[in-house]
Order: sequence, then structure tokens, then C-alpha cells
Amino acid sequence: MIACKHWTKSGEFFRGQCSKGIEGGRPSYGHCVHNCGLCTTTNAELAEYMQTLSEGPSFKTKATSLLKHTGQVIAGIPQGKAFASKLEQARRFGICKSNTCNKYDNEKNKCNKCGCSLKLKIKAEAVGCHYWEIKENASK
Ligand code: SF4
Ligand code: SF4
Repeated sequence: MIACKHWTKSGEFFRGQCSKGIEGGRPSYGHCVHNCGLCTTTNAELAEYMQTLSEGPSFKTKATSLLKHTGQVIAGIPQGKAFASKLEQARRFGICKSNTCNKYDNEKNKCNKCGCSLKLKIKAEAVGCHYWEIKENASK
């Protein structure tokens, strides 16, 4: 994303690693674009990228989904149904990765519909997704 040979994307949201050690070696996109003379990323390119971020679910949606999915896992514990089988998890993940829904975030491995990490979402037995069901029914 950042047009600079010193930039490497890090796992931290909006931050990268700077091999020149600028900003403690952990500059943000904004710092690179606005303050560093070595960055050739334009303001327009940054704004375009920001726009793609804002197209995801709102903070409220993400928080609500996380609470809901965590609650569904906890509710399933007494019946021993908190987690889907490994096979089911793999099936779900395969559908997510196919990106039929156009909501799969490959970089962050999350669902852009609800904002949840797919590590949690595919594991929770009681969590559903319309696309998981479509594929299942289509293959019957
Ligand atoms: S701070 Fe400057 S040198 Fe470092 S990664 Fe960002 S643009 Fe490159
Ligand atoms: S959970 Fe559903 S909407 Fe989200 S990425 Fe997977 S298939 Fe797409």
C-alpha cells in the first residue's frame, strides 16, 4: 500500500515496519504519506484506501457481532455444542475463501459482513452464514 522501499506491512492495523527506523520503525500510513519525504504515495491514494476501509462494517456492527458470536459459543458449552467439527470448519472456511459473498478479507482473514475474525466465526457451531447454507443446499 505504501509506495516506499523501506515499508513492510505489519500485522498491526494501519501500521507497517520501516527499515529506516522512522517513527520507532512502526510508522502509520498517515505518517508516511503526510510527514515522510521518502514516501511517494499520494494523498489521493491514501484517501482512496481509507474509503475501502470505511466500506466495511461499522464499529457498532463489529462489536455487536463479536458479542453475539461469543455468546453463541458460551451458550453451546453446556450441551457440548460450542464448536463445529473440524470438517465443518474446513467446509465453512472453503466457502469464505471462495469469496462468493464478496465479503472475505483475505489479508486479515475476517468477514467484512460482520467484521469478525473468521478464526472465531467458522468455529462457533451456532453461528450461521447465508453463503454457507447456499453451498450446502446446492451440493445436495
Ligand atoms: S516512514 Fe518514510 S521511510 Fe519509513 S516506511 Fe514510511 S515512507 Fe518509508
Ligand atoms: S462468513 Fe459468510 S459473508 Fe462472511 S466471509 Fe464467510 S461466506 Fe462471506
